[in-house]
Amino acid sequence: MYVFIKEKDTQKTFIDEKKIKENLSSNLNPDSEKIRNILQKSLDKQRLDPDEVATLLNAKDEKQWEEIFEAARTLKEKVYGNRIVLFAPLYIGNDCINDCEYCGFRISNKEVVRKTLSFEKLKEEVKALVSKGHKRLIVVYGEHPKYSPEFIAKTIEIIYNTKHGNGEIRRVNVNAAPQTVEGYKIIKEVGIGTYQIFQETYHYPTYKKLHPRGPKSNFAWRLYGLDRAMLAGIDDVGIGALFGLYDWKFEVMGLIYHTLHLEERFGVGPHTISFPRIEPAVGTPIAERPPYQVSDKDFKKLVAILRLAVPYTGLILTAREPADLRREVLKLGVSQIDAGSSIGVGSYSETDPEVIRKSQFILGDTRTLDEVIYELLKEEYIPSFCTACYRAGRTGEHFMEFAIPGFVKRFCTPNALFTLNEYLNDYASEKTYKEGKKVLEKEIEKLDEKQKNIVLDGLERINKGDRDVRL
Ligand code: SAM
Ligand code: SF4
Repeated sequence: MYVFIKEKDTQKTFIDEKKIKENLSSNLNPDSEKIRNILQKSLDKQRLDPDEVATLLNAKDEKQWEEIFEAARTLKEKVYGNRIVLFAPLYIGNDCINDCEYCGFRISNKEVVRKTLSFEKLKEEVKALVSKGHKRLIVVYGEHPKYSPEFIAKTIEIIYNTKHGNGEIRRVNVNAAPQTVEGYKIIKEVGIGTYQIFQETYHYPTYKKLHPRGPKSNFAWRLYGLDRAMLAGIDDVGIGALFGLYDWKFEVMGLIYHTLHLEERFGVGPHTISFPRIEPAVGTPIAERPPYQVSDKDFKKLVAILRLAVPYTGLILTAREPADLRREVLKLGVSQIDAGSSIGVGSYSETDPEVIRKSQFILGDTRTLDEVIYELLKEEYIPSFCTACYRAGRTGEHFMEFAIPGFVKRFCTPNALFTLNEYLNDYASEKTYKEGKKVLEKEIEKLDEKQKNIVLDGLERINKGDRDVRL
């Protein structure tokens, strides 16, 4: 039934532009009763159909939107609780043979400083990240023959093997070019977390216009990139759209159809969805004035709708967004954020402002990891560096959190508290330490007797010097 697309580009894919436009135009002006029924379906933990998603996207007044936001907040609280997983991006190299018009790394940009980390420099970067308390990374590469699957695998291996003090990186997610099945197999060998590929825009004509040359100009090769990852045995994949290139409602529908496609073909949808908005980048005029700029208000709407549409998928919010907006959007159902991020190649171990200015794009939230953790604690979140499921072979943990009654209580909360305690003991500033220990106490009080004993025992072991305590 599925055509395996090798090199041929085609618009005939599971993204049907006409169908999406029909979904959106045939569900205009929904009444509140209809919206409430759809919200109830989400709260009953069911995924929404495209027409239902289109109906929510067409909500027309403030009152309806408030109900949508409220449902997203409730779903997040009920299912996932107050944990927020933290990670950092690590840029390995920015050479690129593509010409994506919105990206500072594109081949025609003469203003960006080209750089690829040497293995020595990579170790320094990892040590700098580990010494701040990071445990989870996403590694990022431009698309270039020198970033072969073997090279990507080697860099990941180096990251895992670079221990520093009490710390180490325990999960490496990847954001790199789409590979062949053989290429993915080489990368899978070294043990990766999620393989992310963002389609950027699901609107074919816009895609073709913004990706004029290079391998990325092939829409279908990219769209089926994560199918090939799945075929290679990587069952943990992340999709995303770069918001601002085309109509945001269309892109949300694209993400939903992509999810449905993976579910239908492989029985499992994406592990995560990312929804970056375009940020300014040096030498990149289109990034200063994106053609379909998404307002903060619409950004919140799209996050809430994604939460409700695919209630069992992780949502990633990046430091491209400013701190204030991040605070609000967290409540709507985000499960992971990056913190203390730096996106120059080599910029964790070196602080030259030129390297940072000339990076891929400019970050909206430049708080340190400790500042972000402090603030999360103040708002009674549990910052988590948990990597337990992935390392115990429990893939699809987000789905399990959602689908298996008691899973969060049994695994996620204790593991989050353990990794928080490690952070507090090894890396926290004084004020974060105090706040964190208070949150630990409060969270322990919420547990039943059996869980309380398990958690107290683990925390005690960490206080005595054990590390990597996990269930
Ligand atoms: N080169 C690989 C690729 O394009 O898939 C992976 C790395 S690329 C740097 C990672 C992501 O950065 C892209 O998928 C795109 O969504 C995002 N990006 C590019 N330019 C951006 C900008 N100006 N603002 C925000 N995100 C941007
Ligand atoms: Fe290269 Fe990726 Fe940037 Fe495109 S988005 S220019 S492929 S680094």
